Parts: sequence; C-alpha cells; structure tokens
Amino acid sequence: MSRAPTTIVDLGRLSLSHGEGSRLSVAIQLDPLEFGGQEYVPAPQVAEARLDVSRPTGGYAFRLRFPLHLEGPCARCLEPATVEAEVDVREVDRQDTDDEELCSPYVVDNQLDVGRWAHDAAVLAMPARVLCRADCAGLCPVCGEALNEADPAAHRHETGGDPRWAKLDELKRE
Ligand SMILES: [Zn+2]
Ligand SMILES: [Zn+2]
Repeated sequence: MSRAPTTIVDLGRLSLSHGEGSRLSVAIQLDPLEFGGQEYVPAPQVAEARLDVSRPTGGYAFRLRFPLHLEGPCARCLEPATVEAEVDVREVDRQDTDDEELCSPYVVDNQLDVGRWAHDAAVLAMPARVLCRADCAGLCPVCGEALNEADPAAHRHETGGDPRWAKLDELKRE
C-alpha cells in the first residue's frame, strides 16, 4: 500500500458548503485490539475505508465503512481464530448545540479523528466471543488439552486417565 495511513481528516480543507457532501477514500492504520483479555491483530494493519462527509445545516454528518479482518486466539481453545466483519458506522457533529448526544467525540477543532473512531468501531464490531469454529469443543477441563482434534475417549478422566479403562468404558457403551 503506497498511501500513508490517515488518522486525522481536516474538515476545513474539504471546504464543503451547507448541503454539500464528499466521499473520501482513506487508508486507516488499525492498532491491535484488546478483547476478552486477548490481543487481536489487524491483518492487514491498514484498512481501506470509505468516509462520507456531508454538511447538513449546523454541522457535519459522517459515515465510515471498512472491512475488518483480525487474527487472534479462539476464546475456548486458544488456537488461531479470525474475525471478519464489515464496519459501517455513523456520527453527527452539530456545532450549534451543547447537547452531547449531537456532538461527536471524534471531532475537535474541525478535525475528525478517523483513526480513533475506526478503532472504537472495530471494538464494537467484535463478536460476543471469538471462536476458531462455531462448534469449538474447547479445552479439556481436566488436562487442558485442546479437544477439537482429540479422541474423546482419551479425556474421560473420571476413570483416572488410564487409557485401558477408557477403552473398557467404550466397550460398555456399545
Ligand atoms: Zn477453538
Ligand atoms: Zn483431558
């Protein structure tokens, strides 16, 4: 990627009049995210984002869209997992009000902090739990081994972990 990542968009330089809009393509540098005590790393680190800026009377309205791809551990088995999401978020910033709801925290002195906004939006786009696959079997609660590829019979620890007993157990079930 040739363009340097953008973190700040100077709204004054867009010189939009009221009622006008502009669509920008911006490269955003994404930092690793902390989620559920684990770290998730954006890959690639720079997201190609589309930023729509429009200027209704009294302020600005923004829409930011970018594909999110993160890599990090599965919340159950700790094996590598990926997160894929399409981030699509909006903000408004009115300059004629003190209502906090209508003032974007990402706009300061006519500068839009698109980097910080993208980071916060990425955190909100995370699934409730990051899993390597929907039916991940997780770790054995007794020995801590990953169970996805394991033979379930080898983890029947109630038999004392002796594989012969596990085998016998298996025969009894048949
Ligand atoms: Zn897993
Ligand atoms: Zn086990």
